[in-house]
Amino acid sequence: MYKVNEIFFTLQGEGAHSGIPAVFVRFSGCNLRCPWCDTDFTNYTPMTAEQIVKEVRELYDMPNERHKMCVLTGGEPSLQVDKPLIDALHDAGFYICIETNGTHPLPQGIDWITCSPKEGTKIALKQVNEVKVVFTGTYDPQVWREQLKAEHWLLQPLRYTGEWLMENVDAWENDRNDNLDDTVRYILTHPFWRLSIQLHKIVGLR
Ligand code: SF4
Repeated sequence: MYKVNEIFFTLQGEGAHSGIPAVFVRFSGCNLRCPWCDTDFTNYTPMTAEQIVKEVRELYDMPNERHKMCVLTGGEPSLQVDKPLIDALHDAGFYICIETNGTHPLPQGIDWITCSPKEGTKIALKQVNEVKVVFTGTYDPQVWREQLKAEHWLLQPLRYTGEWLMENVDAWENDRNDNLDDTVRYILTHPFWRLSIQLHKIVGLR
């Protein structure tokens, strides 16, 4: 059984696949605790691989579509995702992406790996498709270029959400434009990176 927080159909709003429709499977639980994390780690439904694939297919019900995307996210999906689930999603015709913090090895067969490394952690991966870093301003994201190989390097301004936001609304209101400005300024002086914003939130999707 996998612990599944939610499954939903929307537009991918971040990274190189921004704007592409995808079913998101959000797994519960993570080995890290980032202060801005918006995942509810306590709520989950135990599901088999068959149940997950059935729900994913029902949400993205276009049998002849050749590039149906399914994004495995969390929490930290690598703590649960395994080969049987990957095979079952491939058999159902899905292109499989994963969004991982990179601290845990991945099973074979995933089509697209997004690593979103967190400050001070040790990365277990070497080659990924894209690196997406939340720009906190507390350290230089260039450190990840020494540890990872990737085709796309994305910096995302910090958005405080969840419990932290509820307790610190004023700080968030005051900080957020500064953080966006800082992120843009950093990219202008480190053009290897590219700006990633949460497109889905701007257009009012989840
Ligand atoms: S790695 Fe991701 S899921 Fe885990 S605590 Fe940090 S933001 Fe949340």
